[in-house]
Amino acid sequence: MSALGSAPRPALETAAMVRAGELSAVEVLEHHLATIEAHEDDVRAFTLVTPDEARTQARAVDAAVAKGEDPGPLAGVPIALKDNLCTRGLPTTCSSRILDGWRPPYDATVVTRLAAAGAVSVGKTNMDEFAMGSSTETSAIGPTRNPHDLTRVPGGSSGGSAAAVAAGFAPLALGSDTGGSIRQPAALCGVVGLKPTYGTVSRYGLVAFASSLDQIGPFAGTVADAALLFDVIGGHDPLDSTSLNRPTPRVLSVLDEGVDGMTIGVLAEYLDGVDPDVAARVHQAAEALAAAGARIEEISVPEVALGLSAYYLIAPGEASSNLARYDGVRYGLRVDAEDTAGMNTATRSAGFGAEVKRRIMLGTYVLSAGYMDAYYNQALKVRTKIIEGFDRAYAQCDLLLGPTTPTTAFALGAKTEDPLTMYLSDVCTIPTNLAGHPAISVPFGTGDDGLPIGVQLLGPALAEGDLLRGAAVVEAAAPPMAPPALTASLRGGSQENREGVS
Ligand code: GLN
Repeated sequence: MSALGSAPRPALETAAMVRAGELSAVEVLEHHLATIEAHEDDVRAFTLVTPDEARTQARAVDAAVAKGEDPGPLAGVPIALKDNLCTRGLPTTCSSRILDGWRPPYDATVVTRLAAAGAVSVGKTNMDEFAMGSSTETSAIGPTRNPHDLTRVPGGSSGGSAAAVAAGFAPLALGSDTGGSIRQPAALCGVVGLKPTYGTVSRYGLVAFASSLDQIGPFAGTVADAALLFDVIGGHDPLDSTSLNRPTPRVLSVLDEGVDGMTIGVLAEYLDGVDPDVAARVHQAAEALAAAGARIEEISVPEVALGLSAYYLIAPGEASSNLARYDGVRYGLRVDAEDTAGMNTATRSAGFGAEVKRRIMLGTYVLSAGYMDAYYNQALKVRTKIIEGFDRAYAQCDLLLGPTTPTTAFALGAKTEDPLTMYLSDVCTIPTNLAGHPAISVPFGTGDDGLPIGVQLLGPALAEGDLLRGAAVVEAAAPPMAPPALTASLRGGSQENREGVS
């Protein structure tokens, strides 16, 4: 226990200590497995915990150190993986019944890169089914709970990954962000979430939702840890045809450079209609950036108001095409019937949940011959307008600032009856995906209800360096936020909790 302190140790520090032989990867892992053992029944962050595989990885890291080898920049750091990332031989379900029993024959590129960097994967995290949702409530195994308040949602779709980091189950996690699914749950769970520039992180082995929008990115407890993880997973991959074949920004090395001389625009449209306590935190973050030397301006990008409408035509269109492959023949579930068409229908009827079916129907409709011009093609034009709007803004400023979400975490069940209300939780995150740009959510104090608020910094393509510099300034000025009550005893490092290790 000795080397494990009372506060959660940042990944950067853990990796440095493991590389130096001052802390063993097995010891770090057992501490996190004990935390999972103690609190997973409450939080339900995982679809699968993999202690055996994790112990094998951790022992290999320790063996490398003992031989004088360097296991890499994430040496011995536990990480949780969203369950839409392919893991060879291990179930990958997308929290859908339709993938029941499917075990991918290969690892996602990010999974390979993590292992090569010495990270230790502790399991697969719960999500909205096929990443469609904002609360994890569309998961076929039921919702994850917010560690700050178990009656609230953790956000989604990567709610399990956000909750895992917030609950201390792992210092790092990966999620995917198609319309906000990293940043929104990061904000609601009080952790850092980065949606990288489209094409900087390989999508090879990420189960596709909307291929022109999907991007994998980090969750972490600190901005520096998110930077560390981005540096490991980013970079060209010949296995992904949309992977950018040019240098990916390195971010950890520029983190301390500050924002002196930067111009940061407060995005007016993003403050429209958000809760007053959330808006107040955004203004407070702007003041902190100004105090650190940034010039703050108010900027308007009216086109972003069209983001939600365009997204709910483009994303379902792409999803309806991507999800056509789940036909009972090649993957997971099969429900037998008289003939093949009957088997396809029976399998898809039983395997997909209501939200996924809604998206497939919407998508098929907007792509159908008679409606394609009126809906899908129109949405593509709006997408171009949004890109032009952001280009105008970035001609005037380096970064934009706004809230990540309009509210703090809402109650479980509050929005499940009305899909449109649920869709509105991503109103401030979706335009970034349509533009292919990067954005980051940084915890910045709490709202009137005591729950975490995230502020969002947005940048133009490949501006991750500037984005992370801004995020570090915001983080340093963040008002205090109490850690989730459920981990209080473990944060004290008490021995009883460690005895729960299985
Ligand atoms: N909540 C949005 C949706 O349901 C975004 C999801 C995501 O980013 N994967 O489509």
